[in-house]
Amino acid sequence: MSEWLNVSEVILQEKSPDLLSPEGAQTSNPEGARSSSPEGARSSNPEGARDSALEEMPGVYISTYGCQMNVNDTERMYSLLEMVNYTPVDSPEKAQLIIVNSCSIREKPVHKVYSEVGHYKKLKELNPKLLIGIGGCVGQQEKDKLIQNQPLIDFVFGTDAIDELPALVGRALEKTTNKKHYRELKREEKEVLTGFQHRAPYHVETLVRNPGVATFVNITKGCDNFCTFCVVPFTRGREKSRPLEHVLRDVQALTQRGVKEVTLLGQNVNSYESLCGADFADLLARLASETDLQRIRFTTSHPKDFDQKLADVMFRHQHKVCEYIHLPFQSGNTRILGLMNRRYSREEYLEKIAMIKRAIPNVVLSTDIIVGFPGETEAEFQDTIRLVLEVGFETIYAFKYSQRPNTKAALFEDQVPEDVKSDRLARLFAAHDEMAFPLVKRYEGQILQVLVEKAEDQKGKWSGRSTQNKSVYFLGGENLVGKMVPVRITKAFPAVLRGELALPN
Ligand code: SF4
Repeated sequence: MSEWLNVSEVILQEKSPDLLSPEGAQTSNPEGARSSSPEGARSSNPEGARDSALEEMPGVYISTYGCQMNVNDTERMYSLLEMVNYTPVDSPEKAQLIIVNSCSIREKPVHKVYSEVGHYKKLKELNPKLLIGIGGCVGQQEKDKLIQNQPLIDFVFGTDAIDELPALVGRALEKTTNKKHYRELKREEKEVLTGFQHRAPYHVETLVRNPGVATFVNITKGCDNFCTFCVVPFTRGREKSRPLEHVLRDVQALTQRGVKEVTLLGQNVNSYESLCGADFADLLARLASETDLQRIRFTTSHPKDFDQKLADVMFRHQHKVCEYIHLPFQSGNTRILGLMNRRYSREEYLEKIAMIKRAIPNVVLSTDIIVGFPGETEAEFQDTIRLVLEVGFETIYAFKYSQRPNTKAALFEDQVPEDVKSDRLARLFAAHDEMAFPLVKRYEGQILQVLVEKAEDQKGKWSGRSTQNKSVYFLGGENLVGKMVPVRITKAFPAVLRGELALPN
């Protein structure tokens, strides 16, 4: 990120359905991977022996595509592989194990996997013991087809098999013993682990190597909603929730490692339901009152499950629960919402927004939108624009509808032509830009509480986020990482704010 951010890049144009994360952004080698030295390696090696021991540890390189859920999964894979002595490396050339953690939300996802793996052919020829595994949604969806079509791939694993990765890698490695060329390993020897553990409880402790000040904690996985455009129910399985006590313990342990803020993560966090009967509002209330967190965020919400109880809990715990809600509406037209199987009408969505605004007067809203869903007419698209303007979303994440395998909408006959979709998307962004500009400008002169996440340089430039989920870049002070500080906003751009530390009078 540049010194003071390029303002022309501010409004994020596209995102995956219902997960707040810029799509298309390949996140190979998360920052943590580059900077990390595996804790286990440090503590288990006697003084002086560490460097040579690290040299003997095989390197793992994970290339990550897609949403925050995938980024979290990658972090989990690195942590699990460190437990069996792999060390993260910053390039495929240094690796003995390469994993592509794939995403199938965007177009041509399978093509992307083949294209990336194809680049590793030379490495594989030089080193027959180099393993290449495919995980994530494309792995889940394509299964053994990947191995049939690309001999460079050694194993495939699905989204429910991540915890089996160390054993899977161990077995794959054994099979390469005595092999002089990667082609000697036959297709039928290669493993494909893509079954869903439908009956198994969802018990996962958060595994994150360098959590920093703010981190993500999964509370649900999968989705039962079957929106007709979405692959998630097919790639992540049925919805499951972690037990409330597990989440509480997990979060408290993270706070002991210096975490001040967590974002609770799930495809639809609002339908969280612990075995004890607690719902999402109960979980938020317990986290706010029983842990040392300073801030709590969550994503993503589904309008049909966002209720008054949740809005009231957010307001009651507003000192901790951020007054920011990402509530995807996808279309502003009731007929299209029906075709999407969203299970709310335009009017019901607007009623929900009105309820939220009454309960949390300072709430800041963002949303996801699909334009050009099959059959969408110009008048129905105009309903979407009108809804954006009526609600006053500060940020929108919009994208053109595209067909996804296994989904119902992919079979709908009246697909909207590509040029019409592009035109609608451009007009939607233009309408939103015009409406949102004055909304964002209101921050100028305000003092916002910012949780400082990092130093931007050595000369007193810092960055963090406000409760409204705005990235704030500011000048002033020393050693501010992890602190909540008041920042006077001097300049507001659509996605970022610039300011200075507000000194007490
Ligand atoms: S099916 Fe689930 S994850 Fe996909 S858009 Fe609908 S609610 Fe979101």
